[in-house]
Amino acid sequence: MKKEDLHVHLHGCLTAEDLWFLGKDVYKKNNILLDWYAREYEKAWNKRPLYQDYWEKENGFELLSQDYLFLEPSHFDRFQACFNLIIALCPLKTHDFSIQEYIIRKRSEENLSYFEARTIFSPRFDKKDAFQYLEGLTRCVKNLNKELTMQTKLVFSLPREEIFLEKQYDWLQEFISQNKFLAKEIVGIDFAFSEENHPPREKRRFFKKFFLDNQKRKPLKLLYHVGESFRDKTLFSAIRWITEAHRLGAHRLGHAIALGVDPSLYEGKEVLESPLEAAQTFQWLEENKSSLKNFGYELNGDWHKKERSLLDGNSYWKFSYRKEKIEELRVFQNACQKMLKEESVVIETCPTSNLRIGEISSFFYHPIRSFFKNDLSLVLGTDDPGIFKTSFLEEEKIFKSFQENLFG
Ligand SMILES: [Zn+2]
Repeated sequence: MKKEDLHVHLHGCLTAEDLWFLGKDVYKKNNILLDWYAREYEKAWNKRPLYQDYWEKENGFELLSQDYLFLEPSHFDRFQACFNLIIALCPLKTHDFSIQEYIIRKRSEENLSYFEARTIFSPRFDKKDAFQYLEGLTRCVKNLNKELTMQTKLVFSLPREEIFLEKQYDWLQEFISQNKFLAKEIVGIDFAFSEENHPPREKRRFFKKFFLDNQKRKPLKLLYHVGESFRDKTLFSAIRWITEAHRLGAHRLGHAIALGVDPSLYEGKEVLESPLEAAQTFQWLEENKSSLKNFGYELNGDWHKKERSLLDGNSYWKFSYRKEKIEELRVFQNACQKMLKEESVVIETCPTSNLRIGEISSFFYHPIRSFFKNDLSLVLGTDDPGIFKTSFLEEEKIFKSFQENLFG
């Protein structure tokens, strides 16, 4: 197996130790950002972190680790609240790339051959800042690539909100067209952060523009986090989102947990889904009826009609994960996986991250199991190894153990 980390957020590689060391000299002057971190953390975890204690109490490092490390399954908002400590302590700068260099050097000690690191533009950046950041970071990566065996390339995670997306993408595109030499270090764009309320279909116009631009430049990859966090919708709808992102042309899908998680994880639970979402899913099921049937899923006409008739356009769709529906969802997932396999889907799988952010209580429910069964194309990533307290070696071990259990 190639030692390539293909889904990883650059700053998410920072460990609790790293943050403690980086923070001790700057925490007093970063107090505004740290206050923001504390407020956001309290919203997500119902507990206000006393961040000064991280550096002022004797057990400060333990306190920081307890708040920062994301070791138990919980939802994405809580994960983001932990990640915010990185944002508060290491805001992106336009003239100092020492943290990025430190991270890349440290990851190279894991004997990776390739490190495809995702980064972002700070929301504070204007065009000039963005250009300085692009120039400084690509130069830093280029120099390190000459020196280290591990090769690093950059992917820019862009905001899902249209207005910010277009602005930041334009900066990137303009930089690439004006700086061909440095731009070789940039290989793609990505969509990350919270996915709720940002359906892939809204990106149709942007995707079109992106692929047209790709014809005029050294093509960039389009990566897309999807089906990772879906508490506001049914598995049917979350899987529809995954299919839509793939069919719009995303080269690789990040996580796609909904496509493979064993539905019995949700047994006895109920979900309320918005009328618009539900209507789109029922329509999608109808449109894909014959391909789904070819892959083994037959739409239950009576159920479909009954549920659809309950939706008057205003009421939420109440879906219960009952035994018979769980069985049906398994068949549906398998059919969708086979259908997407035919359409050459590639999934970036991050074993530990999926367990924690997917709120998956044991490996039995883990999506990789069924991805292997259906022989999907998978690539491996560590996602945010610093927060998850993991490493490429560890993730590779889990990945291989899934592979071996199923194929002897
Ligand atoms: Zn990610």
